[in-house]
Amino acid sequence: MESALTARDRVGVQDFVLLENYTSEAAFIENLRKRFKENLIYTYISSVLVSVNPYKDLEIYTKNHMERYRGVNFYEVSPHIYATSDNSYRSMRTERRDQCILISGESGAGKTEASKKILQYYAVTCPASDQVQTVKDRLLQSNPVLEAFGNAKTLRNDNSSRFGKYMDIQFDFKGAPVGGHIINYLLEKSRVVHQNHGERNFHIFYQLIEGGEEDLLRRLGLERNPQHYQYLVKGNCPKVSSINDRSDWKQVRKALTVIGFSEDEVEELMNIISSVLHLGNMQYGGDDGGSACITSDTQIKYLSRLLGVSGTVLTEALTHRKIIAKGEELMSPLNIEQASAARDALSKAVYGRTFTWLVNKINGSLAYTDESNKNSSVIGLLDIYGFEVFQYNSFEQFCINYCNEKLQQLFIELTLKSEQEEYEAEGITWEPVQYFNNKIICDLVEEKFKGIISILDEECLRPGDASDITFLEKLEDTVGSHPHFVTHKLADTKTRKLMGREEFRLLHYAGDVNYNVNGFLDKNNDLLYRNLKEVMCMSENKILTQCFDREELTDKKRPDTVRCVVLSHVSPLPNPTIVVPCAKAEFTKLHVTKILDYSELLHFNCSQVKLCVCVCVFVCALVFRYKSLCPDTWPNWQGKLPEGVSTLVKHLGYKPEEYKMGRSKIFIRFPKTLFATEDALETR
Ligand code: ADP
Ligand code: MG
Repeated sequence: MESALTARDRVGVQDFVLLENYTSEAAFIENLRKRFKENLIYTYISSVLVSVNPYKDLEIYTKNHMERYRGVNFYEVSPHIYATSDNSYRSMRTERRDQCILISGESGAGKTEASKKILQYYAVTCPASDQVQTVKDRLLQSNPVLEAFGNAKTLRNDNSSRFGKYMDIQFDFKGAPVGGHIINYLLEKSRVVHQNHGERNFHIFYQLIEGGEEDLLRRLGLERNPQHYQYLVKGNCPKVSSINDRSDWKQVRKALTVIGFSEDEVEELMNIISSVLHLGNMQYGGDDGGSACITSDTQIKYLSRLLGVSGTVLTEALTHRKIIAKGEELMSPLNIEQASAARDALSKAVYGRTFTWLVNKINGSLAYTDESNKNSSVIGLLDIYGFEVFQYNSFEQFCINYCNEKLQQLFIELTLKSEQEEYEAEGITWEPVQYFNNKIICDLVEEKFKGIISILDEECLRPGDASDITFLEKLEDTVGSHPHFVTHKLADTKTRKLMGREEFRLLHYAGDVNYNVNGFLDKNNDLLYRNLKEVMCMSENKILTQCFDREELTDKKRPDTVRCVVLSHVSPLPNPTIVVPCAKAEFTKLHVTKILDYSELLHFNCSQVKLCVCVCVFVCALVFRYKSLCPDTWPNWQGKLPEGVSTLVKHLGYKPEEYKMGRSKIFIRFPKTLFATEDALETR
């Protein structure tokens, strides 16, 4: 067999474990940089793939490339996301074990693109029948739809996913993709009503306004101008040069049809999207007593029609709050500030629930229903939004970073644990690796009764004087002595200078983050007044009737806020993809160093190297591949395989410290040993 590796592919080292001084950060970065300069964006750390975002089309995702990676070993071809995809697929097929690919990295690193590449790889290379083709199309088309509703332009990424996604792809016994399932979590709902400077609302709003057909916009009462809508002007950024909202609309519209949305459903969906915009434009005035009233009924008229609710009831619900006192219902008027907050809460709730409905609808169309085929396996893809640290961090960052903390725990545990298990199975002795176990931070956040989330929930339910500040004080009382928790009051003089009085600091695995408690209670409560819920439950919009269930009105339990369900669904044995980000088209040392600190990539690198998992090859594969290099094994080795391997590697000059024999596999300390053998094969 001919090696597919060219000299260019071997610029630097293609696996970090090949570096002479592999524990040096400088060497690590230098290697990344060297390769990046040659447009080699992928590098391995053993089975982990590290990728640096090139921000340009490198033409390395063609059908030819896909073919090149089918069924080949990692070390035979240059590193690629397709190799990782193919490896997971083959492991799933041969070991009959579910697989999972975890994608982590900062915002803009290229995580979502990576997940799309993986999906495309399976869609193109896996076997298919007519029925499967429909599934493949739907799997692929779910992306533009989810991105339209769940992605937005941020300062870091023009197409930033503002939700976490875990996707299972199901394969039948022939290895054909036959179904899928998506779990969404933590949609950044606050973006619906507010965007930071230079950022946009979710794409769908602009797509509809720019691309929607004339008569559709007329029915929805929309102007073809994003600047007209209060919810779209906060970031002062209606147009983005890299985005064509009009053509994106066409694509999304088509995708909705492929996924199986009826014309009526699309219309109902757009009714909801446009009502959010009308809600945002509603003006409140105050009467003499300071109570809020709606000054113009233009929006109410549209809202009443689009949402299928009575205008009078809606008007009252948007300006009053129902209180139950001594068994009697009273309508207490809201002031302007309260009424605006109630309106925003409604917009967020409507949008958030519609998004979940959308995901469920997509799941319905991807559902694998063939009961006769029980032997299916899955490959899971986790595309989480990365660790976020801003100047000002709020509840949203708290949730995102907690999710990342959980992911990190899973990541390290699974990778290191599975590696150690493999040694055990192969009867190889190893030195246990010490790595930082971030369970202590996860516990601080999630522990029952005394974790931060419990305390927050408790404050949210406590009647009386509960506020963001009392929440902070409770934290100080309860977790104040925790080694990963600090507040202004508890900090030493040096740290205190870097903290506000309304902040608490968590010492995350990836770094320290100060969270401002302002708004924590409201955001956790996601307060939607009962009477607004009642109105939505009466809606004639068929989607909203599914989003707002009457039972909710009688159920006193609050819905869970921090939903990390996804992490407990993750299947064992990941082939993780870490994606190292870099600033647009440049690759500065400073930035990379910072990122590496962040993701503990280096730490990870070192642990892996200490484990000496470099290349492991099934002994039979090794003998078969290299038998021509040794007269004793050529043309065929007649004896027992392990002896054949011993004979072969001795002849090849492998030193005893360079390899270890397991029961069925040989572990080669440094892949360069194997590369030398590959070279020998080529020049033979
Ligand atoms: P993340 O999901 O990590 O926030 P994305 O996957 O959305 O980041 O990537 C951000 C942008 O970077 C993409 O819109 C695309 O322009 C570019 N990009 C990402 N990965 C690649 C790649 N492999 N090749 C070329 N461009 C890429
Ligand atoms: Mg993303």
